[in-house]
Amino acid sequence: MSKGGRRFRAAGPVSPGSSECRCDPVGRPRAWVLLCGLCVVLLVAGMLGVYLSNDPLDGARPHPADWTRDKLSHLPSRVSASQVRRLVSRVDLSRLWETHLRPLLVERLPGSPGSSAVRQSILSSLRSLSAGWTVEVDSFSSLTPRGRVSFSNVLAVLDPEAPRRLLLACHYDSKKLPGGPFLGASDSAVPCAMLLELASALDSTLRATRHRKAVLTLQLVFFDGEEAFEEWTATDSLYGSRHLAELMGRTKHPPGAEETTLLNSIDLFVLLDLIGAPDPLFVNHFDNTARWFDRLITAEKRLHKLGQLSSHPSEQSYFRKDLYLGPVEDDHAPFLKRGVPVLHLIATPFPSFWHSLQDSEENQHPPTVENLTKILAVFITEYLGLDL
Ligand SMILES: [Zn+2]
Repeated sequence: MSKGGRRFRAAGPVSPGSSECRCDPVGRPRAWVLLCGLCVVLLVAGMLGVYLSNDPLDGARPHPADWTRDKLSHLPSRVSASQVRRLVSRVDLSRLWETHLRPLLVERLPGSPGSSAVRQSILSSLRSLSAGWTVEVDSFSSLTPRGRVSFSNVLAVLDPEAPRRLLLACHYDSKKLPGGPFLGASDSAVPCAMLLELASALDSTLRATRHRKAVLTLQLVFFDGEEAFEEWTATDSLYGSRHLAELMGRTKHPPGAEETTLLNSIDLFVLLDLIGAPDPLFVNHFDNTARWFDRLITAEKRLHKLGQLSSHPSEQSYFRKDLYLGPVEDDHAPFLKRGVPVLHLIATPFPSFWHSLQDSEENQHPPTVENLTKILAVFITEYLGLDL
């Protein structure tokens, strides 16, 4: 799909207006001439003041709102081979599995004690990091086929005032299944654990860059209420993402802005879903973010060649541009329809255990999860231009 560019009205030139000499004539013509001359000097000085304060060069300088277009031409950095090795050595599979994933593997229906416990676990992981994330819980309630239910998205941003954000998202709720509990390991406990591990692996690097007052920062979103309570419909699904897209669309950003919102701040919305099974395939869904999908292909090949991936037989196993299996409705949809650029990282075809009780910890493939986390660590580092 293509996305219409957003343009913002530049401030128009202010007319200095007209003025006239209001000096009263005096008796002597010479005095009248002097007074009128003084008036002319004052008028010219006044017009010059208005002219300078209006700054005629304003049209030639980047308007403050131009940052909203910078995402279209954003260039990533490229980390060296030694930096790649150092970076991926910080991805810790046992921390990902034991510290971040295990606490999520409970039934976590919106509004339930399980959901609250999982949310507390995500919050305490984020708050334990040294990078200084600003963490918020975005709580709301919504009518569902089961009556009114409360939902809570978890949001974390490194620098809330930075104009632009790279946003990474997953959903932490699970679904009611007969014979349950359904633990939804790949759907989407593993993707959420991957986000927490990325924040942990990059913690010291993110801490060092936080005070740069960079134009671009990192945001993590853990959505609640992705799953339908009954059949998937436009109103019974995506409760958390529909709420957050609407909220960000009416929240002015950066501070003091009148024309731009938090939605404009999203350079790229990267959604992880259905990750954890062996041999996943990820295809490119959107033309306007194809160049970012290419970066994932490049990172996968590079890590393979550097011997940094395990159980990875060919250099291009995961990310493929030569296949397309159709669009998938997911948490990106409310953002996509508002013009946000999206990279949808969902395994297609879906894992064989999708929405069954077999979507459990033992059916996940740890080397695949570790490999994908390493690829994303390279992607994020290069996108944000982090110093390693
Ligand atoms: Zn699901």
